Amino acid sequence: MIGTGILKGMAVTARNFVGSYFEKERLITVQYPEERSPLPENYRNFPILIYDTNDAEAGLRCVACKICEKECPPQCIYIVKSEDKKPDYMGKPQFYPAVFDIDISVCMSCQICVEVCPFEAIKMDKVFELSTRERFDALLQRKSELSKSNTYYHSIHPIEAAEVDGKLAEAAAKKKPAPAPPKAPPAAPSLGN
Ligand code: SF4
Ligand code: SF4
Repeated sequence: MIGTGILKGMAVTARNFVGSYFEKERLITVQYPEERSPLPENYRNFPILIYDTNDAEAGLRCVACKICEKECPPQCIYIVKSEDKKPDYMGKPQFYPAVFDIDISVCMSCQICVEVCPFEAIKMDKVFELSTRERFDALLQRKSELSKSNTYYHSIHPIEAAEVDGKLAEAAAKKKPAPAPPKAPPAAPSLGN
């Protein structure tokens, strides 16, 4: 019958309109910024650098290999590799980024830097309220602003961060030297004739 579709549509609208007085989930409008919808696990915005332990310098996973800088399509990552090495969180001497900047006015949130990083050092943040009146320097994120703890990473991407922890623990276990074989007992003194 002509008009059935319109009537069905109006019935859905009416049901949601009346229902919204009784069930909060029928309300589609969120009164931002007082109210916020939870962001899904895989929501992403701009990259951050992850560090382990409580020390943002010593625990930084990044070893300044510069792969992300090379692969970033709009070339918005700038890294200066250190001249010296410092022990990483596992005590192994590593280079580190003396400078690590990301120009988020250029970043297109493609996540390619994350995909190519062999050290699980760069991940995507969920922070989106970064607008500023100043277009250039204020949107240049420096190492100190980019560095976030693994605990923070777990708070924004719990499933992904747990998987990464598992992978790193597995890799660390493989690198551990195998335990030395037990020493043979000393030979018994031979009895003379
Ligand atoms: S998310 Fe994409 S554009 Fe942004 S820094 Fe990473 S590779 Fe570059
Ligand atoms: S974030 Fe990853 S890919 Fe980029 S320089 Fe650091 S270790 Fe290399």
